[in-house]
Amino acid sequence: MSTEQLIFEKGAPGRRAATLPELDIPLRPLESLLPADHLRAEPAPLPEVSEIEIVRHFTHLSQRNFGVDMGFYPLGSCTMKYNPKLNEDMAALPGFARVHPLEHESLTQGAIQLLFELEQYLAEISGMKRITLQPAAGAHGEITGLMLIKAYHEHRGEGHRNIVLIPDGAHGTNPASAALAGYKTVELRSDARGGVDVHHLEEVLAAHEGNIAALMMTNPNTLGLFDEHIVEIAERVHRAGGQLYYDGANANAIMGITRPGDMGFDVVHFNLHKTCSTPHGGGGPGAGPVGVAEHLVSFLPGPLPAYDAESDTYYWAENDPLSIGRVRANCGNFLVLVRAYTYIRFNGPDGLRHVSESAILNANYVMRALQDAYDLPFDRACMHEFVFSANRQKRNDVHALDIAKRLLDFGVHPPTIYFPLIVPEALMIEPTETETRETLDEFIGMMRQIARESIDEPEKVRQAPYTTVVGRLDQTLAARKPDLRWAGSAVSQPASPIPSRVR
Ligand SMILES: *Cc1c(COP(=O)(O)O)cnc(C)c1O
Repeated sequence: MSTEQLIFEKGAPGRRAATLPELDIPLRPLESLLPADHLRAEPAPLPEVSEIEIVRHFTHLSQRNFGVDMGFYPLGSCTMKYNPKLNEDMAALPGFARVHPLEHESLTQGAIQLLFELEQYLAEISGMKRITLQPAAGAHGEITGLMLIKAYHEHRGEGHRNIVLIPDGAHGTNPASAALAGYKTVELRSDARGGVDVHHLEEVLAAHEGNIAALMMTNPNTLGLFDEHIVEIAERVHRAGGQLYYDGANANAIMGITRPGDMGFDVVHFNLHKTCSTPHGGGGPGAGPVGVAEHLVSFLPGPLPAYDAESDTYYWAENDPLSIGRVRANCGNFLVLVRAYTYIRFNGPDGLRHVSESAILNANYVMRALQDAYDLPFDRACMHEFVFSANRQKRNDVHALDIAKRLLDFGVHPPTIYFPLIVPEALMIEPTETETRETLDEFIGMMRQIARESIDEPEKVRQAPYTTVVGRLDQTLAARKPDLRWAGSAVSQPASPIPSRVR
């Protein structure tokens, strides 16, 4: 593969991929359009290729990418489940795809109705009173939720509350969002069963009496474990005057079974791109709606979709004076919301419960089938995901990273590794409910083979992958000094094709 020609090395002078009609207006000299010193001295060294060359180039590039439509993708915490094509069909309907966000309400009744109903569904699923659909991602939902909590405390004259409690296994966005919202974070220890250590919580609440703003949690947590003390935890934090924030990225495990509102949470964000099967990874787009309990509704960003029964019309309601204001233009990532709406309507209440039950069943099936080959730090029934440790393999100098790289040779996306931080050599596996038993069995077979190789031929695992276009990259160098420009020998390349003035 390394000898494959790059696009810049293909083609021949004068070759074209496009055929344009003959020019029917007078051709004006470039000098009359741009100042002379903005013009190149020489033409840019661009490839001149035929249509078939360019089509093959981009098709090959697309095949180098890995997606859930290509193979198993058990990337823990990210819920890379199959995105039904029906969602795409609905999002492509011209009435949705071509609607302009500033079109008059009278012309967008269907779109507002969809958002109005989606809000009701999400409120029902989460046990919250109302939802804003504006935030564009989970982390965006987190900062929005924390701003709501801050506005609430300030409104009550308790703006001095400056501490957000976060369990030690939390997703990295949680402390980052808290810091961005101007809070100090205090880490809560996990207990031997992988939940929040309630004694430590008590100590922390006492040490910061009067200053607790909120506790941020995901339940099930990033170990894939349901916190058995959640009701007690919620009571204690509330008694200390704090609000409870639910990071709903793991909602794939609880739909139709339990609700954050019933556990005592005040604010919830959804990751619709995870839970409600809209394509994500590689940068989105996503949607991170935020739901709140009744006492926080006034602070929500608006406008919120509303319905007037008398005239049977949908409209955008004016913001409450206490609203924190907009957090995003228009109504959020509208077509992601259309996909999520489709997913919820297609499954219905029983279907959503079945989704979560199947996700939990699949995760437990894989975990139990592999627990003799890998260390399981918390040996409990898991929810939709679980975390192994490669500690045993490490004795042969095979690390979680090596196992992840070796999986690439089997055509599988690796699990999340080295997260959560509280598990050394973590392998975080989320099979999701959309995979067949055969796929899960194949994966179990691959993981067993890698466990055997780690003992019999560890060097083989350490050198993997063997089948990919590139092997192991220097990840630090790739991130800090990305080499994005092509400079080959086939075409003479000036030092920089971009004039210094605009660089
Ligand atoms: C994915 C995830 C987030 C962040 O969501 P984004 O949509 O990527 O911003 C937060 N918390 C948890 C537990 C997650 O898995």
